[in-house]
Amino acid sequence: AEEYNIRDVEYEGEIAASAIDDLSASIVRDNEKCIACGRCISVCSNIQTVSAIGWSGRGFETRVSTPYERPLGESNCVNCGQCIMVCPVGALHEKENIQDVWNAIDDENKVVIVQTAPAVRVGLGEEFDLGVGERVTGKMVSALRRLGFDNVFDTDFAADLTIMEEGTELLTRVSKGEKLPLMTSCCPGWVKFIEHNYPEMLDHLSTCKSPHQMLGAVIKSHYANVMGIDPKNIYVVSIMPCVAKKFEGEREELSNEGLQDIDAVLTTRELAQMIKEMGINFAKLEEEEFDHPLGESTGAGVIFGATGGVAEAALRTVYEVLAEKDLEQIEYEAVRGLEGVKEASLELPNGQTLNAVIAHGLGNARKVLDSIKSGEKSYDFIEIMACPGGCVNGGGQPIIKAHLRD
Ligand code: SF4
Repeated sequence: AEEYNIRDVEYEGEIAASAIDDLSASIVRDNEKCIACGRCISVCSNIQTVSAIGWSGRGFETRVSTPYERPLGESNCVNCGQCIMVCPVGALHEKENIQDVWNAIDDENKVVIVQTAPAVRVGLGEEFDLGVGERVTGKMVSALRRLGFDNVFDTDFAADLTIMEEGTELLTRVSKGEKLPLMTSCCPGWVKFIEHNYPEMLDHLSTCKSPHQMLGAVIKSHYANVMGIDPKNIYVVSIMPCVAKKFEGEREELSNEGLQDIDAVLTTRELAQMIKEMGINFAKLEEEEFDHPLGESTGAGVIFGATGGVAEAALRTVYEVLAEKDLEQIEYEAVRGLEGVKEASLELPNGQTLNAVIAHGLGNARKVLDSIKSGEKSYDFIEIMACPGGCVNGGGQPIIKAHLRD
């Protein structure tokens, strides 16, 4: 071996060079674990067109970094967490809030209320090998009670509120002919994207809070009042398929009299971790129902978890208010050359036509907004979900095991 010079390598090991970047409300970067595979760059820059993560340095110094090597929380990152889903070594992960929630549950002065988003109940089972996409609503509710939450509510209740509020807002704007197109505001990744990239269009966003923020606001106002609880003693936890909701929960606009609407956001993965920490045999749990009244919903809100769900609900509301009858079906057409973008036209009883577009993935959002700015397209309603495929494929969902990937 000596003769052929094939065995004289002695690795020195890595020298710890970078501190953990945990200033973002949603995402933690640990560059010591990074193997520079570039998958996060591919999804952030090429698919999402955000470019909060990219290459830095040259030659052997090449590394994955942020613009100007600043912390991610100070960058144009939209917190969608799609980078987490493709990182094979855990160099990117969500900012954990599990201990905060355990502390609140242990605090006997706190009423700890949990709500769950529609996509969580179809993702959670994967963490317990129950099959991809299997609905585990009843077991999830049962597990949440066993973890010690005082009330288990359903974000679908507030999705119904969103449908009514956003439908009414669309009706008002259409009748006045102002601030059109109306753009959905329930995806915090999309909201941050438009703030950074298209600030001139901000007043087109719906003024409605996202469903979990609405439910938090209702819990700390009306529900607290009816139940005779001081809102300061209520701790609201949202279980979401999303890491951007962690950032959203901390936004100062989403508070009332110094109290945030939401106190902690956990991802589907973090909930699974809590269930495992408690040694609960999830697969064997009996099914239970949400608490009333904020666990009730029409079922329409369930479709919020999939792309197109918000637009479908809002357009139906407008039609049904004006026509006083149900709308049979909305026909969507794929936009040629753009996978992930669909259009629909809806004729209202007064003869007016509403044009809507639905897009998922921020690369597609950019194309839709650019087509409006250039005058090529004109719409009355726009639904955007930051994550490719919508919330069911959110950055907080279980990471699909390698053997199940196609
Ligand atoms: Fe969160 Fe859903 Fe938006 Fe993804 S698409 S950032 S999961 S709200």
